[in-house]
Amino acid sequence: MTKKALVIFSGGQDSTTCLLQAINEYGSEHVEAITFVYGQRHDIELRQAEWIAKDLAIKQHVLDISSLGQITNNALMDKDQTINQGDNNHYPNTFVDGRNALFILMAAIYAKSQQISDIILGVCETDFSGYPDCRDIFIKSMNVSINLAMDYTFNLKTPLMYLTKAETWALADQLGYLDYIRQHTHTCYYGVKGGCGKCPSCLLRDKGLQAYLSCK
Ligand code: ZN
Repeated sequence: MTKKALVIFSGGQDSTTCLLQAINEYGSEHVEAITFVYGQRHDIELRQAEWIAKDLAIKQHVLDISSLGQITNNALMDKDQTINQGDNNHYPNTFVDGRNALFILMAAIYAKSQQISDIILGVCETDFSGYPDCRDIFIKSMNVSINLAMDYTFNLKTPLMYLTKAETWALADQLGYLDYIRQHTHTCYYGVKGGCGKCPSCLLRDKGLQAYLSCK
């Protein structure tokens, strides 16, 4: 049986790089994407995700789990909050409790229904904000949990886990999609098309790109 993969896809730099790498590895007809509507403060990234999936001819499932907003509150979902980076004692206020656990569980339920075992996500513990659900140890524990929950052998793959942002740009370049990702992916917390250049997410993306381009 041909191996298939499901990519958890937001339309941002990281998950788009994962999607392109998966297409490269599995072939586009064997890759599907799943995108979650969870009450994001802007819908630009969802529109970009839909555009990219269509452009790359990838089957995409958009799943609405925005009822999450009924039980938690944070700056990523609430337009009235100012985004801050956090410090040593606090996570940034863009952290969404349980988000990746929920994404992985929902993705796994769908993947099993399609006889897909490989689930790919663009989490990274190297230079992001220290979100607990981006750490390798959490992904490994979640992999064990979903396998036990559904009596199925899922394989959670996180190709960006130990890459810096500069290395993620390098990977995009190797795949032949550096300019594509620069132009078409959305990362800005404030939903500014092309990036605001000021929020933590834009700063990280731009710094990584400059670092990569300067040593190319
Ligand atoms: Zn921004």
